Order: sequence, then structure tokens, then C-alpha cells
Amino acid sequence: GFNCGIVGLPNVGKSTLFNALTETVAAQAANYPFCTIEPNVGRVAVPDPRLEILARIGNSQRTLPTSLEFVDIAGLVRGASKGEGLGNQFLANIREVDAIIHVLRCFEDGDITHVEGSVDPERDAEIIELELMLADMESLEKREPVLHKRARGNDREAQQLLAVMQPILTALREGRPARTAIPEGEEETARRLQLMTTKPVLYVCNVDEDHAATGNAFSDKIAARVAAEGGAMVMVSAAIEAEVSQLAAEERGEFLEGLGLKNSGLDRVIAAGYQLLGLQTYFTVGPKETRAWTIVAGTKAPQAAAVIHNDFERGFIACETVSYDDYVTFKGEAGAKEAGKLRIEGKDYVVKDGDVLLFRFNV
Ligand code: GDP
Repeated sequence: GFNCGIVGLPNVGKSTLFNALTETVAAQAANYPFCTIEPNVGRVAVPDPRLEILARIGNSQRTLPTSLEFVDIAGLVRGASKGEGLGNQFLANIREVDAIIHVLRCFEDGDITHVEGSVDPERDAEIIELELMLADMESLEKREPVLHKRARGNDREAQQLLAVMQPILTALREGRPARTAIPEGEEETARRLQLMTTKPVLYVCNVDEDHAATGNAFSDKIAARVAAEGGAMVMVSAAIEAEVSQLAAEERGEFLEGLGLKNSGLDRVIAAGYQLLGLQTYFTVGPKETRAWTIVAGTKAPQAAAVIHNDFERGFIACETVSYDDYVTFKGEAGAKEAGKLRIEGKDYVVKDGDVLLFRFNV
């Protein structure tokens, strides 16, 4: 599965958000730094309105959404790359996630300590980014001499890694994240360097309850920054999300509407995380269940089948394919087939988001 690590300075609302996300009531959130020591991991359903629609057409007994994993990573502070706070431990946790959700405190509350003494999300973002860049730089500098030695001995892999590493090191030394310096077409090699500042980032602006819909001066600054740098941002009020997560599903809509919100911030965080990772969904529809499955955009049919079961990939023959829109328009597989919209696709077919698939395979 894929996962997103929730990072940020202490007391910005990470645990509140994480708990709301995973609907764990056990409130770890407390008003002091370092209260989340062990990384918490939670699996979250990816909301998708298409599931219910498909299930109704296909007469399925139930629906099963796909999921995304969230990791609550302990509060990091200025100097973390030098071992301050939980320094090295949290850095190791960040290296293991696929994407970073960077929570920024955009709410004022005199009762809740800010480690830097004031609310300033731009400064906070820079503190964390600097720590990640320093840690990346250190890890590359540690490996550089070894790779040079191997490269002189005509080790092709070492030469390739070094070629990708050089421009990245230059960027890091100039204060730019590694993602800005990956040579064209070398994304795969860059991934093997296992850096943190190559990972995609979603900024989550945690605003006060009164500005959950509109944002505030703090989140406006981050929005401008994200627009300039290119990136993704979601605005939430973690405090509201914590309340929403305690409500019955059927009460949530009304509660949010009362606050001027169209949908829950959590749904937006999950959707943005999914998009950040370049993930897509295909469906299987049967009498027992309609189910959503996650693939990376660009995945071919046999590898998409492997998400269900490894044997499906090995024995893959073909897949019956109907697009989501055709499935709905022609009211199911039989209707789509009659209309000539059911395709038999082979092993080179690139699965599209929303495809309804039925795999044929040898056992
Ligand atoms: P973490 O250290 O980043 O995990 O922060 P927590 O989630 O533990 O939150 C720290 C404190 O801030 C807790 O007392 C939360 O209740 C409070 N808090 C979190 N989000 C909000 C918010 O949106 N508004 C207000 N007023 N307080 C919040």
C-alpha cells in the first residue's frame, strides 16, 4: 500500500488531524511538545461516490472502498537534523513514507504553546524544509566518497548515482530541495538515493474554526507560496475535523453545511494525498461486492490484476473493460456490451481511472 507521513512542528495539530483521520477517539493530543513519540499508523478509507452508484447498478450486497495509510510522525524541531528533539528517529520515519503531509499552524491560541514563540506558518515551513534538506545533504555527503571509489573502479551503478547526486547536492547546498534538481528522466535513480526532499508535499493549513471555509491571513501567505513554487495545499480546521469524526455519517453533511463547508477537510486531505501520489482507482463489480482498487497511474492490466491477487498477474489472459461513464450510461455490463462498449483488453492495456474490470486468468 501507499502511505503519507504527517509532519510539522510540535503543537500545530498533527495528532488532532491524524486522530480525526483515523477516527481514533483516544486523544493523544495534549498541550505540550513531543507527546506523539511512537509513529502512529492508520489506514483510512478513500471516499469515492462512484462506489455506491456502481453497487446499485450491479446489485451488489456491499461496497468496499480502497484505502490509504497515514503515519503520524513525531514533532520535529529546529536542529532535528543534528539530533535535536526526536531528530534522527523521526527522520528515519520520514524516509519510509511515499509522500509528506506538512501541517502548518495557521490558528492563534494563547493557551497552546508554539515552540517558536509566535504563529508564523511561512517560517515554520522553512524550518522543517531546512531540516529535511540538511539531513538529505548529510546523507549524500556520507555516501559520496564511497561512490567515488566505486565509480573509479568502473562501477556503472555508482557512476549513474553520482551523476544524479551532483546537481542535487549543489541544489541542497544552495538551499533548494532535491526535487528541484533531478536531471530529466532520472526520477528512478533519484528515488534510489532515498531522499526526503524529493518526496511530494501536501501543505495542510490548520486554520481556526471561524475561518475553515474562507482561510485567513496566515493560510493566504501559504497559498501564495504554493502558487509560486507549484505544489498542493488543503485548508482544514483540525478542531472541526475532530468534531466531525465523532458524528454519525448522516449528521456530518448538515454540521458542515452549518459552518459553510461543502465537504469535510479530511475528505479533501485524503483526495489530495491520493492525487499527490499519482494514484488511480479501478473497480470490480459483482453480486457480493463492488470494490475499489488502487493502482499507480500508467499501470498495465496484469499488474493491476496483481493488486487483487498475485496469481491474477501470473495467469492473466485478458480483462473485460467498461469505463465508469459507459457502465452508468448503459446501466451495467450487459447494457454496455449491447451498446458495444465492453472491450476485451490484453496485457499491454494501460488501466484508466474508473475502469470497471473483470479479469480472465488461468489458474
Ligand atoms: P501536534 O503536536 O502537532 O500533534 O499537535 P496536537 O494535535 O497535539 O495539537 C496541539 C494542541 O492544539 C491541542 O491542544 C489541540 O487541541 C490544539 N489544536 C489543534 N488544532 C487546533 C485548531 O484548529 N484550533 C485550536 N484552537 N486548537 C487546535
